[in-house]
This record gives sequence, structure tokens and C-alpha cells, in this order.
Amino acid sequence: DGITLEQVREFVWEIPQEGDMRTPARVLASESLLEEIKEDKTLEQLKNTTHLPGITNYAICMPDGHQGYGFPVGGVGALDAENGCISPGAVGYDINCGVRMMRTNLTYDELQGREEELVDSLFANIPSGLGGGGIVEAGVDTVEEILERGVDWALENGHAVEEDLLHCEDEGMRAGADADKVSQKAKDRGKNQIGSLGSGNHFLEVQRVTDVFDDDVGEAFGLEEDQIVVLIHCGSRGLGHQTCNDYLRKIEQQHQGLLNQLPDKELAAAPAGSQLAEDYYAAMNAAINFAWVNRQLIMHRTRQVFERVFDRSWEEMDMHLLYDVAHNIAKKETHTVDGEERELYVHRKGATRAFPAGHPEVPKAYRDVGQPVIIPGSMGAGSYVLRGGENSMDLTFGSTAHGAGRLMSRTQAKNEFWGGDVQQQLEEQDRIYVKAQSGATVAEEAPGVYKDVDEVVRVSDALGIGDKVARTFPVCNIKG
Ligand code: 5GP
Ligand code: MN
Ligand code: MN
Repeated sequence: DGITLEQVREFVWEIPQEGDMRTPARVLASESLLEEIKEDKTLEQLKNTTHLPGITNYAICMPDGHQGYGFPVGGVGALDAENGCISPGAVGYDINCGVRMMRTNLTYDELQGREEELVDSLFANIPSGLGGGGIVEAGVDTVEEILERGVDWALENGHAVEEDLLHCEDEGMRAGADADKVSQKAKDRGKNQIGSLGSGNHFLEVQRVTDVFDDDVGEAFGLEEDQIVVLIHCGSRGLGHQTCNDYLRKIEQQHQGLLNQLPDKELAAAPAGSQLAEDYYAAMNAAINFAWVNRQLIMHRTRQVFERVFDRSWEEMDMHLLYDVAHNIAKKETHTVDGEERELYVHRKGATRAFPAGHPEVPKAYRDVGQPVIIPGSMGAGSYVLRGGENSMDLTFGSTAHGAGRLMSRTQAKNEFWGGDVQQQLEEQDRIYVKAQSGATVAEEAPGVYKDVDEVVRVSDALGIGDKVARTFPVCNIKG
């Protein structure tokens, strides 16, 4: 609808700067993905993002991009941390929604025939759905401790081992978190959701590795064909959602001036250096820690479920965390821009950090090969493990895609699909065992509502922002 796109080179498209845009915008996509991106408001939202003060180089849409709240899902925006701003809408409501992958030494052969037992046991032992409580139910004091200490709290309380922390972004603890900046209401919502999947798009999936494309990196990541792995996708639950909401309201009250300059109120931002920007950053960091603890508790409980089903200790089954990475986050990072070091709030919303080999923030175990990146596909398609590519710092502030990306809304999905049919088909055709709290969720998350993850990963790989390492395929899946 009147948005100009110019091709820069293969897979790189640009919306040239015009009017009040502060920079151009870029879309990283193949022609087929671009056609899908053009179907909703993604391009308009991406263009709007370039109005944010302090936007650096360009606003960027990843190959899996689609329309979101204000800022596209699959969007990366680096905003100057001194003269720019920070935007809750550009982080997303589910603060530190993210994924973690755990390895095992089991093979698909060993699992076959046990799928139903495993999926039932996972479903019975891992809280999911809207209600349902959490693995730990505690008071606000405990929530506050989790908010400030992250996975360190889980370690002290027997829900983690030392190595789990090393294989998590920020080692499972974001510095600069302040529980006092998170509202009572948010903490109350978090209290009985510590260790819970939630509903909708969140899931726990047992997968088998179908392909290893890069033997050396595969070896460094501990991945082999036919191996069983576990992928966990969830975030900060009601606590993060409430925190986003709280700060959006505060911005409306305190920073009308900046809000009025923006083409979309959903991009509401607090000016860098303001008290509110500091407060939001401290609250967001706290919610980030909560989400890491959430995924950690779910993973540790999964180890216990496997112990019972396979009658072996989790250590014997080599159930180690490969990596945990956030995909809804803003982070103060130093990047080189036009030869100068700059402090930026890098907003990654539905985008994954993808730091290349040698970067000091990549865990030691992977520093020579690059940061593991985990890209889920759908409950009926492949998922991928990538490694941060050589070009990511130059092209995307060290980021790549986060999934296949949605093709249609939830409402549309419920009209197209029937949960029971989807489940039956997956089991009969692909031997994928899905168990969910509600049939509606299965319909809303049917494989057909997502884009082609192979194509998303092809673009990431070709651009050198995230390189293909391995592909997995679902075996068992539990959902809210
Ligand atoms: P989001 O965080 O934006 O909800 O989505 C993350 C990505 O997870 C989606 O873009 C989609 O590709 C993927 N996904 C959604 N449901 C499932 C599932 O049940 N299994 C797997 N492997 N991937 C999924
Ligand atoms: Mn989420
Ligand atoms: Mn997510």
C-alpha cells in the first residue's frame, strides 16, 4: 500500500528514508517470504519504527517477520542508549519469551514405542494452560529473589546444576534487575506461575535430530543424527505481561511529548536517561530473570520425568542444556557504528541474538564456533539449530530470526483447522504425539498457520547471520 521497497542485493530490501523517518528500514527475505510479509501490516510497522529517536542504521525485519503490537514480530531496532529511547512495545508483552534446547544421549530407536507414555508423563508433570499453578508455588519474597538472582536462585534451591547457568544467555542472570520496579500486581501474578508453560504458542517438544549439516559445529554442540533432544518455548507469563502493561501506562502519563511524535501509540517509548527509562530497564531485566527461572524449572522437571520413564539417571542420559536464548528482549550492548563504539538498546522482538565465533559473550564451550541459535518451526515441521554467523554484527546487530513466523491470525486458524483432526493426522502420518489442554490451542497452532521454516533458515544461512548446523523433527509435544 504505497510503501516503496528497493532491492539492495539478494535477500536484502530497503524502505528508503523519507518524511519523518530517521533512517531507512531493511527487510531480510527471499521473494516468497517477502510476498507473505507484504500481506499484513509488517512493512508499515517497520517503517513507523524508524521514527523512534536514536534509531541506528536502520530498523530491520527478519525473514520470519509478521505484524505485532506496534513493532513487528521478527523486528530488530537498535536505539541509542544515551540520546535515544527504550520501547516496551518493541520488546513485547512476553518479556524474555525464548527457547532452550536440552540434549540427551537417547536415540529415536530407544524412544519409539514409548511416545505415549512419555507425552502423558510430561503433560501430567509440567504445569501448562491458563490456570494450573507452577512447579514452585511461593510467596512474593521468593518471586523477588528470583527477579534479582535468576537461575542462581534455581541453583541454590536444587533446580539446576552449575553447568546450566554457563549455557544460558547472560548465564541465566541479567544484571541491573530491580524487583522494586516490578509492581505488586505483577509479582502476585508470578507467584503461582514459577515453572509453567502457559498457553497458546508455548510448548515443550521432544524431538529427534534428522540432519547435521556442519559436522564440526555439530560436534561442538553435541548434536548427532537420530539423537533425542528437548525444546522448551515459554516466557515470563503474567508477570512479564503485567510489567509491559504497567510501563506502557506510565509512558502515557509521563512522556506524552515523545508519544505524540510517533506515528503509532503502540510504539510508546521512554527517553534514554529519563527515570522511567531506567525503571523500565530494571523491571524488564527482572522479568527476564523470571523467565529464565521458568524455563530452568521446566527443564529440570523434564529430567525427572525422563528418569522415571527410562529408569536411568538424567546424568546417565547426558541431559545437558545446549543453550537458552531469549527472543523478546532489549539489551544495552556496545556495537561499532561507522567505526565508532556506541551503547545501544538493542530491541529484539521475535528475533534471536546470534553472536559470531570469538565474541566474548558466547559461552566458552562454543566460543570457537559461535553462539547456538534455536529456531522452532511448528509441531508438524522441522526446527533448526544455527550458530551465530560472521556477518551478524555488521548486518543485524548480532541477530537472526526466531521461528517460522505466523501466516494467519488465531481466529482465522480456528476457522481453518479442527484440533482433534490436526492431532490425529500428526499421529497417523508423522508419528508425532501431541497433548494439549485445549483443542482450540492445537487448531490455533496447527502446522499450517506457520510459514516455511526451511525458507527462513535458508535466508539466514545465505546472509551469514545465522548458519545452519542441525535440523530436528517433533516426536512428542505438550501445549497449554
Ligand atoms: P513466537 O515466540 O513468536 O510465538 O513463536 C516462536 C515460533 O515457534 C513460531 O514462529 C513457530 O515457528 C514456532 N512454533 C510454534 N509452535 C510450535 C510447536 O509446537 N513446535 C515447534 N517446534 N515450533 C513451534
Ligand atoms: Mn511467548
Ligand atoms: Mn516466543
